[in-house]
Amino acid sequence: MSSREQTSIVIATGNPHKVAELRHLFSGVLAARGLNLIGLSDLSRPTTEPFESGSTFEANATIKARSYAAQSRLMCLADDSGLEIDALGGKPGVISSHYATDGRETGLTRDQRDQDNLNLVLQQLAGVPLAERTARFVCVMVLAAADGAILASVRGTCEGVIGVPPDVPRGKEGFGYDPIFLVGPDHRLTSAQLSAGAKNLISHRGAAARRLIGKLESLAL
Ligand code: IMP
Repeated sequence: MSSREQTSIVIATGNPHKVAELRHLFSGVLAARGLNLIGLSDLSRPTTEPFESGSTFEANATIKARSYAAQSRLMCLADDSGLEIDALGGKPGVISSHYATDGRETGLTRDQRDQDNLNLVLQQLAGVPLAERTARFVCVMVLAAADGAILASVRGTCEGVIGVPPDVPRGKEGFGYDPIFLVGPDHRLTSAQLSAGAKNLISHRGAAARRLIGKLESLAL
């Protein structure tokens, strides 16, 4: 293990957008402890992705945190997130990233998947008025010690509505369902129209991260 790895927390995601968002959110609290965040691709040995068999965000974040802690022998921060749409009974939920293929991995790129998922949601909501298109992004973050002990588990949410075409999709920032998710009290902008900094202030990941930072401050890391 390199000396850089010894002072690192590994982030259990291959999604470069998430690594960037989490680095931005956690830099202060971790730097004060001499810790830094590294991605899976920064590890000196390759890792294998665990099967996310859980039916809740909490269960899947825990599976990922424990698996990558065991593989890297480092403290590991995992998040599991997704979109819950009330008119669809809480779907896409835990299969948000592979919704258009009913949770199955098909070898499509992340951008292709995002596009197919977003189109399926719009199709399933066709005819549903704006007032009934309420939804929320959910993020659960779990921090596991190198031995797999769970040090913290937190949840953050971001409420919004799914816009009606042709008003959406709109915006070039973010990823996933951002171009169809209207945020703020007036639902004027999609989360794909927010800068990274503005999104962190209101996002599910920002909310979960702030809760986790509160817990980290009381942990002797
Ligand atoms: P995860 O990578 O298993 O947590 O799956 C998250 C999936 O939920 C992503 O692939 C997106 O489809 C969706 N998602 C999570 N967070 C966001 C966000 O901030 N914006 C848009 N979509 C998101």
